[in-house]
Amino acid sequence: MAEYSAFSLLKNALSGNRDWKPAWRKPSPKASYDVIVIGGGGHGLSTAYYLAKEFGITNVAVLEKGYLGSGNVGRNTTAVRSNYLLPQNTRFYEHSMKMWENLSHDLNYNVMFSQRGVLNLAHTPGQLDDLARKGNAMRHLGVDAELMTPAEIGRRVPGLDMSQSARFPIYGGLMQERAGTARHDAVAWGYARGADRRGVEIIENCEVTGFLRDGDRVIGVSTSRGEIRAKKVAVAVAGSTGRVMQLAGIDRMPIESHVLQAFVSESLKPFLDTVLTFGMGHFYVGQSDKGGLVYGGDLDGYNSYAQRGSLPIVEEVMSEMLALFPSLAPVRVLRSWGGVCDMSMDGSPIITTGPLPGMYLNCGWCYGGFKATPASGFCFAHTIAKDAPHEFNAPFTLDRFSRGTVIDDKGQGPTPRMH
Ligand SMILES: Cc1cc2nc3c(=O)[nH]c(=O)nc-3n(C[C@H](O)[C@H](O)[C@H](O)COP(=O)(O)OP(=O)(O)OC[C@H]3O[C@@H](n4cnc5c(N)ncnc54)[C@H](O)[C@@H]3O)c2cc1C
Repeated sequence: MAEYSAFSLLKNALSGNRDWKPAWRKPSPKASYDVIVIGGGGHGLSTAYYLAKEFGITNVAVLEKGYLGSGNVGRNTTAVRSNYLLPQNTRFYEHSMKMWENLSHDLNYNVMFSQRGVLNLAHTPGQLDDLARKGNAMRHLGVDAELMTPAEIGRRVPGLDMSQSARFPIYGGLMQERAGTARHDAVAWGYARGADRRGVEIIENCEVTGFLRDGDRVIGVSTSRGEIRAKKVAVAVAGSTGRVMQLAGIDRMPIESHVLQAFVSESLKPFLDTVLTFGMGHFYVGQSDKGGLVYGGDLDGYNSYAQRGSLPIVEEVMSEMLALFPSLAPVRVLRSWGGVCDMSMDGSPIITTGPLPGMYLNCGWCYGGFKATPASGFCFAHTIAKDAPHEFNAPFTLDRFSRGTVIDDKGQGPTPRMH
């Protein structure tokens, strides 16, 4: 498959763009593979890519029940950051950030990674203290973090209501300048193309409907396109984790599935050159390169597998946006959509061998798994290839919930919808 370059762009432009080749093949499933990855989202595709690139394992199939990118990888609001409090999370997400910084080059695919910063706002002095503590913890581990004064925030984000009479006055904020956004579907397509080029077979419209077992050991899967055997079967199905694990006879997972909605407005002239999060509720907003505001808020708050949400959250998100930016009241909403998030009990992910022999598990991404895509794929591929975790995913075990060694960054306790 051809390299993408300025030269290939020019050549194809001159020939009327008729000679571009599909970015990945459409193979039929073979009878067996070394590794099957279930789920053609960001994490499944990046896992396959790093299995081939870093560990030389190319006899790999990614099985996707719908079309590639139909899950959360194509539904998220694309914020990428590594501003965590606990060292287990900070190290993992900072590793991801470093991978993002070279991803377009690595994949030979422009994922439009834009380090425009992520700014968390504080609306009380106590909240500002809390952000200062987090910033210090980040800097202690070598991650960039800056505390901003209200005056600095007002200059950086024109349009914000900075008055003391605002519904929630702004006392300051924590900025991570290296954070930002990336184009979500380019990430899926870039990893798919990179994996396909190295021999991985991406099989769309192939739903896993059961697991083939030899005693406890998983030896393959049954699918809507027949049985497929494999030495190793890796599960990376995000919001469908509970349902897919049930097919393997595992009925209780420390995961709940919840709907998260997002919205995009009509295009506006550029005025917001960072991603902003509200501290008095759950609201965040960025501006896309096309000018639309991309924003979202809290989970719908009930368990669901539906990829759409309900109206109360629409109202809540709009009211939070107007509390920050009253002048945006006349702006029209263009689209809204929902995705099913795999909320773990402590808000941190699971990347591990097991829980059955021959099986590997990647889940628990809550509403923050897009930014993890590179590190998650890399660490999961390491875990599958070596039957042992990489140092960055070693804390993210499944049995931490039974051992009581949870990684609860927000200190919310075992309440998945709060993380
Ligand atoms: C509205 C919204 C906004 C978000 N915003 C952000 C953000 O700003 N930043 C951030 O970091 N994260 C964000 N997230 C979270 C992020 O999108 C997810 O954590 C991440 O995409 C999950 O991993 P994935 O890409 O592999 O999931 P998915 O893309 O959902 O992939 C899982 C795949 O598994 C497939 N599958 C399921 N069951 C089967 C089966 N039986 N057989 C075969 N295939 C199957 C599905 O079809 C799906 O394609 C957001 C999520 C949502 C919904």
